[in-house]
Amino acid sequence: MWSRKRFDIDYSDLIYGLGAALTVGNSQGQGLQKELEDWWISDLTGEAVACLSVRSGWDLLLQGLQLPPGSEVAMSALTIPDMVSIVRHHGLVPVPIDLDPRTMAPDPASLDRAIGPRTRVIIIAHLFGGRVDLEPILAARDRVGAILVEDCAQAFTPGFRGHPDADVSCFSFGSIKFATALGGALLRVRDPQLADCLRQIQSTYPVQDSGNYTLRLLKYLGLKTLSSRAGFTALIWGCRQLGIDYDRLLNQSVKGFPKDELIWRLRHQPCAPLLALLRRRLQGYSEKRLAEQTHRGQRLIQLLGEYCPQIRVPGVAAMPNLHWVVPILAEDPEIAIATLANAGFDSTQGNSMTVVESPETDPEWEPRNTREMFEHLLYLPCYPAMDDTTLVSMAQGLRPISSPSVSLFLRMGSP
Ligand SMILES: *Cc1c(COP(=O)(O)O)cnc(C)c1O
Repeated sequence: MWSRKRFDIDYSDLIYGLGAALTVGNSQGQGLQKELEDWWISDLTGEAVACLSVRSGWDLLLQGLQLPPGSEVAMSALTIPDMVSIVRHHGLVPVPIDLDPRTMAPDPASLDRAIGPRTRVIIIAHLFGGRVDLEPILAARDRVGAILVEDCAQAFTPGFRGHPDADVSCFSFGSIKFATALGGALLRVRDPQLADCLRQIQSTYPVQDSGNYTLRLLKYLGLKTLSSRAGFTALIWGCRQLGIDYDRLLNQSVKGFPKDELIWRLRHQPCAPLLALLRRRLQGYSEKRLAEQTHRGQRLIQLLGEYCPQIRVPGVAAMPNLHWVVPILAEDPEIAIATLANAGFDSTQGNSMTVVESPETDPEWEPRNTREMFEHLLYLPCYPAMDDTTLVSMAQGLRPISSPSVSLFLRMGSP
């Protein structure tokens, strides 16, 4: 069985992290943090801030901005649930911006509707490894005088630091992301004063427990072994014997913080071993590694076109697209999952993301296209270890699967 995902980290990195956990003390944290931030920003305008996670950085930013309660935060309608919970925690109102399934970029009509005089912050996510053209969004920001945050958690590529005109660009190195250090994030903040303010707030936080981080490194050492083909096959066999739902087990094991503790967990500084591993990952990351993933994604999409042209691929028209994940739309995702499992491929629904609810007072903001797409979303396994023959057999396995009607794709752009 081919597992849904392989973590983008080598055994040598995990061993390095464990070594750092034994030898790098928190007294070295500040130096490491500064070094990493200086390296990240190099000669760009603004400053970098290293955080525990993108969610920590997002919470930090909303603290720093001190917006009046009830201010609106316009968000890409598809994101991870915690990003929305954080907005609500600050007494702000999340307003969804519907997306064009072909590019995963904001639909122009919905962008127009979502952004108004009460909008204080706009946050746009580059989804699935594709990149959104920010020009129309920068224009909307300037029209209302809001702050534009670019969520690049799914769009890391060496040398890319975000759009130079975005106010804040966030990159995540959480466990399922490219170049992961099993945590950590880097923010580029254009306004140095705002960056200073964030750093000041962050300096009051306790430091992440490095013992917990060590346990995390050990856990992923195990999970990495289990995501190999033989390991994963054994895991599924074991779960079946024990009557455990392995889909739920896996979603739990890569999931972030428990809901009730979310804000408390976010408000920590990254520990020194995390910063040390993050520095190693980023400074040693090769274009080649990413190019292999992108190439596999392109090849899979090409094969889907050949063997099952009825299947729709959201974000297929995004440019550039690194294919961090390869999602498809299936009329009935559960049937598709079962069909793929029979063919030896573990696929999963988009449970780690959520559709942003429209405010109760403004039901007409409901992001219809994103919601319809989300109901049919399915991620295919796709990574460099899967050779051509394997991708062909997965595409063949998908032949009987139908995609939802094309109306979802045609409706876009109409008011
Ligand atoms: C992973 C992800 C995040 C959160 O990143 P963390 O560093 O884990 O907080 C935020 N937004 C999107 C779109 C993501 O994919």
